Amino acid sequence: VPFDQLDGFIWMDGEFVKWSEAKIHVLTHGLHYGSSVFEGERAYGGEIFKLTEHTERLHESARIMGFKIPFSVAEIDESCRQLLKKQGFQDAYVRPIAWRGSDSLGVSAPNSRIHCAIAIWQWPSYFDPEQRLKGIRLDIAEYRRPDPRTAPSHAKASGLYMICTISKHAAEAKGYSDAMMLDWRGQVAEATGANIFFARDGKLHTPKADCFLNGITRRTVIELAKARGIEVAERVIMPEELEDFEECFLCGTAAEVTPVAEIGPYRFRPGPLCETMMEDYMEAVQPRRAVAAE
Ligand code: PMP
Repeated sequence: VPFDQLDGFIWMDGEFVKWSEAKIHVLTHGLHYGSSVFEGERAYGGEIFKLTEHTERLHESARIMGFKIPFSVAEIDESCRQLLKKQGFQDAYVRPIAWRGSDSLGVSAPNSRIHCAIAIWQWPSYFDPEQRLKGIRLDIAEYRRPDPRTAPSHAKASGLYMICTISKHAAEAKGYSDAMMLDWRGQVAEATGANIFFARDGKLHTPKADCFLNGITRRTVIELAKARGIEVAERVIMPEELEDFEECFLCGTAAEVTPVAEIGPYRFRPGPLCETMMEDYMEAVQPRRAVAAE
């Protein structure tokens, strides 16, 4: 079944519409000029992990792009929860998106209507589960993450993902699962849809998120590591240094914590730090429901 023909509902501008009927016009500004921002969230056991943080980031991405979403953070949170119930899933992926509409076209469209939609579907594993256990293989992308003076690097803006799609397609065509991207300075940045960590001598190292998305999972992993007394260095990492690391993993809402075995010429072995962070993350995302006193 094509993805746009699934059963169920999509929340669109305040209403639930049938999944296959959630359509927009071909002259949508967001399609022509990339004026759209989105989120990726996961529900575990019927609850969306860090929902409000994601919705606040959606609003912040829109602000960076120069538009205001006509639904408050509380309204979007509530609509996500209602849609999750309506779709009937316990574990699912949640995709809110906001964009400039089709009522005005041209690079300048400051008064165009801003739309917002939410879709929820089941997306169990971002990477092939078998590959994931052994550690996935990454290519090194040709394109680099842009300088924040060149693009709105900190927004989760759809336009920035053209670089990610080109890079991931190129990597997959060569048999890799994904690509690691450098930034415009040639420093290690992230993967096409997840942040990256390395480990050596019991310590974690990750690039400073100064020109790419400072992922909510990245921040969660840093907190979890620190809570265990594991040191985390957020610093400049040059690609040549990859030779010296023992372990590597990606982390993101969709990818969760995924061990990496290979990046271009460099090799890693999923080990104790990958395992600890995978376990701690899966524990952290479980819903915290008040236990009824008996
Ligand atoms: N970088 C990119 C390019 C991403 O698409 C994502 C996924 N949203 C991340 C990092 C990780 O962000 P998060 O942990 O907030 O999902």
